[in-house]
Amino acid sequence: MDRALATHWPAAACELLATDPWELTVAAILSARTTDTQVNKVMATLGEHLVGIDAYARLEADALQALIRRLPLHGQKARAIVEAARAIIRHHHGRVPEDLAHLAALPGLGRKTAAVVAGNAFGVPAVAADVHVCRAVRRLGWIGEEQPRAAEAALRARFAPARWVRLCHQLIRLGRDHCRRQRPWCSTCPLAATCPRQGVDDAR
Ligand code: SF4
Repeated sequence: MDRALATHWPAAACELLATDPWELTVAAILSARTTDTQVNKVMATLGEHLVGIDAYARLEADALQALIRRLPLHGQKARAIVEAARAIIRHHHGRVPEDLAHLAALPGLGRKTAAVVAGNAFGVPAVAADVHVCRAVRRLGWIGEEQPRAAEAALRARFAPARWVRLCHQLIRLGRDHCRRQRPWCSTCPLAATCPRQGVDDAR
């Protein structure tokens, strides 16, 4: 399976555009329930108004909400970003922490978002178990339910830490290209030979 993923998606990587760890933190918070393409468009708009974490910390959430209003959950995301900026300035001297536990403790960052930042901004081994990853791990038969903590544990147990970050990007590509929620494309999937297709009732 490892070889199939590496062969089909050798360069799978984070598709959120960001120039520094804070920008990636913002983008990762914005990415919930939307596409990376939409987030990248909004990040370009934000870049015209806000530069650096201090600018975000000075904002009121309502003002940020207006700038990101085309995204789902914009109110919740705006509050999370402003609170995270203020917490990083207050507790981490204005620098995004590299450590997964410190990142996950920031307001507005769940464990998955923290893993995205740790892995992609700092190269820290981390498993970002998003919906695509959870679905693939369940269908591969490694967990019983689509549950992020269980998926994370399954991948941590099966793969070396050095593989975790790219592995998640490869599973995201698998989910987008083949292992869709509705009627997955098992007939063309590079993992078809070994995948038990757990829970799949209707495939193409
Ligand atoms: S064979 Fe089907 S269920 Fe298994 S990973 Fe591929 S698309 Fe998903």
